[in-house]
Amino acid sequence: MATPVTAPIAIVGGGLVGSVLATYLARRGFQSDVFERRGDMRRESVGEGRSINLAISVRGLHALEEIGLKDEVLPHIIQMPGRMVHMLDGRNQFQPYGASGQCINSVSRNGLNKMLMTGAEKTGRVRFQFYSTVTGIDFETNTLQIMSERDGKRREATYERILGTDGSASVIRHAMRDSMGVDTSESHLSHGYKEVVMPALPGGGFAIEKNALHIWPRGKDMLIALPNEEGSFTCTLFLPFEGERSFAALNDKAAVESFFESQFVDALDHIPNLTEEFFGHPTGKMVTVKAGPWFVKGRVLLLGDAAHAIVPFFGQGMNCGFEDCSVLNECLEKWGEDWDAAFDDFYSRRKSNADAIADMAIENFIEMRDKVADTRFQLEKKVERLLQAAFPSRYVPRYTLVSFTRTPYREAYEKGLIQQKILDELCDGIEIAEDVDIARAKKLVEAML
Ligand SMILES: Cc1cc2nc3c(=O)[nH]c(=O)nc-3n(C[C@H](O)[C@H](O)[C@H](O)COP(=O)(O)OP(=O)(O)OC[C@H]3O[C@@H](n4cnc5c(N)ncnc54)[C@H](O)[C@@H]3O)c2cc1C
Repeated sequence: MATPVTAPIAIVGGGLVGSVLATYLARRGFQSDVFERRGDMRRESVGEGRSINLAISVRGLHALEEIGLKDEVLPHIIQMPGRMVHMLDGRNQFQPYGASGQCINSVSRNGLNKMLMTGAEKTGRVRFQFYSTVTGIDFETNTLQIMSERDGKRREATYERILGTDGSASVIRHAMRDSMGVDTSESHLSHGYKEVVMPALPGGGFAIEKNALHIWPRGKDMLIALPNEEGSFTCTLFLPFEGERSFAALNDKAAVESFFESQFVDALDHIPNLTEEFFGHPTGKMVTVKAGPWFVKGRVLLLGDAAHAIVPFFGQGMNCGFEDCSVLNECLEKWGEDWDAAFDDFYSRRKSNADAIADMAIENFIEMRDKVADTRFQLEKKVERLLQAAFPSRYVPRYTLVSFTRTPYREAYEKGLIQQKILDELCDGIEIAEDVDIARAKKLVEAML
């Protein structure tokens, strides 16, 4: 028998997206219960989870501004106006991400999550229920099955609306697939990732350039590093799980040391505890989730990674999830009490965009690990900057559209395809960007963009 309605809205998952969503809803006057399987990270250590830090850009910052938390977060970010590419021969090259003043920003995942939780609670309308794992859902009655991680006790709670923000392995999405026939595809990358910390210099300070996203591109694999507030860097190694050059092959200290020595020697210089770090951290998996529909009438809805997990190479997963919350807010504004229409509208506005950023994230993996070290790619980027300067209202590069504007991801994806055709034509036969035929460029840009 269904239990009585206990609160108007349940949010499953109190991660980044769940916490932002709760605040949006509270600002619209709704109360919510947020079920989170982990403990309260503000009071106890819950582990770092998926990545120690991440990059927030315009879409994410816009959502934080809408819920009134941007000013609280900004003092804790580190600006990254470009990537610092570390070549195998020891040369470094700084490649700006966009025009002057445009940057993505490194922020601590747990630090951000804590601020978001506190911000949500401060509204007075959000109740976090920690150590509460949702194990299932009855769609007939909109009842959640919940298990306490403290004592294993099980209970049920019924809600008018249930919003699933329980991440890439979402229980709510799997239940929608099993009970409602929702289409879900989950494709796992054959690469995994491992984090190692490059500590701050003795007495504080950053061992390598603070204001950059560092990349050591090595063809099929790469190392990246993002700065942390207190001077350390979180370095992430992306490598296949299996094969000659893989996590499976890095199975003892000597193998790890000699791999870093041969590939990332300038990083190794600053990571004194490399092997402890390496064997002390898990090897993470990466998945792309494409699912649909994300809703059951006006009663259940998926957002964030639960709906559309993507691989991390465009730095957009969280940004996209925060944009979901902003768009849902617009739909609720538009449709008032009509939740069926609001969820339907939300899905039709977001699905194609989520698929587009999923595809761009996979493409960016190849760009980061391989192309950034390639002379043709570097030429194209320089020509792209010339085009942007010459035709600023027409030629806005895809990376800029994704990271520094709120242009729908689908539109950015499609413009990017056209831009690549233009670059292919203009870069063939030249070796330096200054030789680009601007008259031809003007014709192409005007005709195609
Ligand atoms: C290595 C790596 C680097 C990344 N870098 C970036 C980046 O630079 N920029 C960016 O924008 N994105 C990045 N991402 C993506 C980003 O981490 C995700 O998109 C983001 O965390 C999604 O937030 P979410 O709240 O939807 O899911 P999650 O962060 O996964 O949160 C889900 C929450 O639900 C809880 N939960 C799960 N199941 C249950 C359950 N059954 N019951 C109750 N609670 C549950 C979890 O404990 C968690 O708190 C990166 C991802 C990875 C793996």
